[in-house]
Amino acid sequence: MNIYKEIVEEILNAKNIVITAHRSPDGDSIGSSMALFQFIQKLGKKVVVCHPDPAPEFLLWVENTADIKSFEDHRLEVSELILNADLVFCLDYNAPNRVGKEMEEVMLKIQGKKIMIDHHPHPAEDFCNIIISDTNACSTCELIFDLIEGSGNLHLLDERIGTPLYLGIMTDTGSFRFPAMKPVIHEILAKLLKAGVVHYKVHENVFDTNTIDRMKLRGYAVSEKMEILPGNKIAVISLSDGELKRYNYQKGDTEGLVNMALSVKGIQIAAFFSEKDGVVKISFRSKGDYFVNKLSMENFEGGGHQYAAGGISYEGLDHAINKFKSLVNDYFPE
Ligand code: 5GP
Ligand code: MN
Repeated sequence: MNIYKEIVEEILNAKNIVITAHRSPDGDSIGSSMALFQFIQKLGKKVVVCHPDPAPEFLLWVENTADIKSFEDHRLEVSELILNADLVFCLDYNAPNRVGKEMEEVMLKIQGKKIMIDHHPHPAEDFCNIIISDTNACSTCELIFDLIEGSGNLHLLDERIGTPLYLGIMTDTGSFRFPAMKPVIHEILAKLLKAGVVHYKVHENVFDTNTIDRMKLRGYAVSEKMEILPGNKIAVISLSDGELKRYNYQKGDTEGLVNMALSVKGIQIAAFFSEKDGVVKISFRSKGDYFVNKLSMENFEGGGHQYAAGGISYEGLDHAINKFKSLVNDYFPE
């Protein structure tokens, strides 16, 4: 039996199914979770989506995101759901620490079966019972599509399953432009549109929903807070807690800022630092011969893909930026 049929068999035999994804949800974690949620429901089974934190504002339009139970807001209920489940999906993450310390403790106590479906390098080996880990996949949504097609269930694909799949593929490929795009993904997109997905609605919902505060914050970040490092190939943007508050920061407002820095002609590496409640979250992006996941993994408790990685620091904004600056010559020599 192929692995996709095996997974569908597990779904059909399970009583309590839970879908989890990584902390700080993005288009692919929400997209893959909600597509799998709709698919499992269409198979006639009950399923609950339990994420570490709630979906960001800019993704609340996705059908059924209001039903996501977040560990942050419903700690006891989510712990119970996860521990009572006989089948738990781990989507778009490769190791238990990606759900945050406290939810990780619950994940490690699970007695039921765990299935990882993910596209990040270096999956934790003994975390899940069944692992689909494909770094060639552009997104976890591509793998959820493969699950549906590969298990012989393409006839179940509809607009409800297809829209979140389109979302995750769109956001993780930077609107179909990153090197991870392949001919087969265009073929998948064609199947999604034929199944009823209204592509321009997804783009509008994600990209045409700016608030004035968000536009001003982004303008400020670019005009006042972007620094080009000596050598002219690295751009850094940073925003402090106070600066975020000044523009009434809402989750998702800084999404894509790091890509704006990378879009400057000649820039090969971009870093975005933002501080909230004393914690500095860092996003790294790169192009060509420069890879950012190693630097992030070795210095900022992070990881990710070669061209898109993230990390964290607890030592303040200036310290994190200076640490990055002190490392660039070693990691990105001329
Ligand atoms: P972003 O900059 O959009 O937050 O993250 C970019 C990529 O890096 C994503 O694929 C994400 O999964 C990964 N990433 C972000 N933060 C972390 C982190 O703290 N740890 C690890 N291992 N990966 C991260
Ligand atoms: Mn992803």
